[in-house]
Amino acid sequence: MPQNQHPREQLATIMQRIYQSGLTTLSGGNLSILDAQGNIWITPAGGDKGQLTAVDMVCVRADGTCEGPHRPSSELPFHRAIYRRRPDLRAIAHAHPPASVAFSLAHQAPDTRILAETALVCGEVGYAPYALTGSQALGEVIAATFTQGHNSVILENHGLITAGETLLEAFRRLEALDFCARVLIRARTLLKAGAPAEIGTPDEACLHLMASLAPALPEYAPEPANGRELALRRQLAAIVRRACARELMNSFMGVASVRLDADSFLITPADQDRQALTAADMVLVRGGQHQAGKWPDRSVRLHQAIYTQHANISSVIIAQPVNVSAFAVTAQPFPTHTIPESYILLREIPRVAFATFYGEPEAVANLISPQTPVLLGENAGMLVTGRNLLQAFDRLEVAEFSARALVDTAVIGQLMPLGAAAIQELQAAFPL
Ligand SMILES: [Zn+2]
Repeated sequence: MPQNQHPREQLATIMQRIYQSGLTTLSGGNLSILDAQGNIWITPAGGDKGQLTAVDMVCVRADGTCEGPHRPSSELPFHRAIYRRRPDLRAIAHAHPPASVAFSLAHQAPDTRILAETALVCGEVGYAPYALTGSQALGEVIAATFTQGHNSVILENHGLITAGETLLEAFRRLEALDFCARVLIRARTLLKAGAPAEIGTPDEACLHLMASLAPALPEYAPEPANGRELALRRQLAAIVRRACARELMNSFMGVASVRLDADSFLITPADQDRQALTAADMVLVRGGQHQAGKWPDRSVRLHQAIYTQHANISSVIIAQPVNVSAFAVTAQPFPTHTIPESYILLREIPRVAFATFYGEPEAVANLISPQTPVLLGENAGMLVTGRNLLQAFDRLEVAEFSARALVDTAVIGQLMPLGAAAIQELQAAFPL
């Protein structure tokens, strides 16, 4: 979403997205933007959040007068209070998605350090005590929490609220915080006992390592793209859109690459909204150099190491779907001797330590083989490989389906895996 869009347009686009992602109900939630003149642009009170358009938005002037076809959101007082106390924040998002609400009902805040990406996006989560919705008192307790430096806050018996320098940043934090809530619920279901102590988080030094992983490849100016490159760019953009639609990626998580030839590949760019990626956004990497003027994802060295070591691999995807992430944040093994589809596509899944996953690309590439085409990075996510984009995507989708079934099995009864004879039969029927 371009930042030069009018605040009305930005509010309408992001509200649609929040509704369509299942993060709000028809009537719940609100968004605002503070413009350079000190006006607050805000979603209206009431109204169908799935249908709001740019003309429905309300402008609240600094003197308190309102312009627009509706009344401003009844939660205007807390938006105002936050902007007053935190001048660096220019956009706010608020909603009541069920996983975050579950935490707010248990008077807890999700730990966003469970995954490196969510830790970077959200930071430490604040917690604001209950006060009457729409009241000045609620505005004051929320603003006090933001004043402590938090940008993502759980509201007791209410929901969540996030803020940023842009509306996209506030949305990303909303999505990331609720994502953590969903992962933690699945992880605790997996652990059955609901023991948070068994859910791991990387330490500060590890997170720092991940955050500092700049691509650090030299730049070069490539020749104009040929027909094959143009086709692969389109396929890569299409697979990322499909992954977003299937909730295998979201606005801020998920990386995909595809091999162009022996010495080059295309990869998704760093820190861009995945759902909006186009063929032209993909970054060409050739001979250890990346296309000038574009920034490859920070995992680019890992992709490069895999393509260099494995001539038969032509696609790599790293993603954090919610059920797979439940395994990534707990010490639970990810069994694949379950149903034929899981075993045939995933084979065995080695676990990789956080620091290795992000810091030692050659060592990670070494773990990949025909018997181990998929790896699980602790507090990092799943890496799948394939002989083409579709095979890698299929493995990712099968991994998430398998993980979801395994988490649900924990509720139903004991997992009864396939026996050794059945696995040998599968190996003979589906050789590598
Ligand atoms: Zn609310």
